[in-house]
Amino acid sequence: MRFLEVERKGRVLNKAQFGCLRDCFTLNITKGCEFLCAYCYARGYPGAPVSGEVHVYGNLSDKLAKELDNPRRRSEASWVAFNTASDSFQTHPFVLDVAYHTMEEAHQELLMDIRST
Ligand code: SF4
Repeated sequence: MRFLEVERKGRVLNKAQFGCLRDCFTLNITKGCEFLCAYCYARGYPGAPVSGEVHVYGNLSDKLAKELDNPRRRSEASWVAFNTASDSFQTHPFVLDVAYHTMEEAHQELLMDIRST
């Protein structure tokens, strides 16, 4: 498995458009996931990395902090669901580092729901 650092572009907090999470803010540390669960639906998403790659959003915690600090933020977020299309606790130290710092930022202002897909 190759872990590649990528820049997160666009907004960090986006509302889910599906099922029981509709209109809830969701957050993923990576695109792609090393665990390759047989039942995983996330690999079929448009833009999913090629098999054998995980893209890690290296700038995620800084971007989240700026977004939460922005007084012109349009939607008030009260809680966020992590891991709707990946897993924050993959084994690579860089994934864990980004996950820790991003959750720390989120914890300052939001309730968190951390579960695996
Ligand atoms: S995102 Fe969740 S379900 Fe998919 S491979 Fe990773 S841990 Fe498994």
